[in-house]
Amino acid sequence: MTFVAANLKVIRDRIQSACARCGRDPSSVCLIGVTKTVPPHIVRAGVEAGLTVLGENYVQEAKSKMEQLSDLPISWHFIGHLQSNKARQAVEFFDWVHTVDRVSLARELDRQAHRRGKRMPVLLEINVGDEKSKNGAPVGEAVSLFEVASSLDGVAVRGLMALPPYEEDPEAVRPYFRRMRGLLERLRDSSPSPHELTELSMGMSHDFEVAIEEGATMVRVGTALFGQRPT
Ligand SMILES: *Cc1c(COP(=O)(O)O)cnc(C)c1O
Repeated sequence: MTFVAANLKVIRDRIQSACARCGRDPSSVCLIGVTKTVPPHIVRAGVEAGLTVLGENYVQEAKSKMEQLSDLPISWHFIGHLQSNKARQAVEFFDWVHTVDRVSLARELDRQAHRRGKRMPVLLEINVGDEKSKNGAPVGEAVSLFEVASSLDGVAVRGLMALPPYEEDPEAVRPYFRRMRGLLERLRDSSPSPHELTELSMGMSHDFEVAIEEGATMVRVGTALFGQRPT
């Protein structure tokens, strides 16, 4: 067994235990393998071990990996900061975009999706810890961003994404996850299509179990699967 396969098994077990603790079905949690800086042959080992969804932060890096792994059935999620001038490529190459954090980007993705005759599934990124160093729409702008984005028929707003403050103790992150879930529920109450608004992308290597207990439907795990990234 490769080290990635062994790590994957451990993570699947931990997802299962977290789901058992809160009465959720493990199939309601999508594990996204985050592959930034991970060389293609290691990513391949992950997919061969059972990963089906991968997250990438940079369009250029992702494109080269997509070419080298084009024989594999992979759903590619864009999880990095997206500049508007990369929106065209994001729509062309990715299946989901997690990081819509401003109206101008939502509009550009909508425009590019129309050009390709596609409806792009997206998440709205929220700066839930109100941190200067982080991207994401301020919590106070979430409703207005949602109202605009959900009026655009080239994008399908499927939920929210957050990268909460790093805390040594994952329990300390719980209030942020809970706030995200509350926000999603409020948006759903006011949405004309609440059945589409179901996803919460939150939780990473050190806090994904707490995120699952608080309702995450997508966890983005890098280090715990592929090892430390070069700094
Ligand atoms: C790198 C990254 C992750 C994965 O982080 P790990 O701590 O390595 O699991 C998740 N989400 C985003 C947005 C990232 O940039």
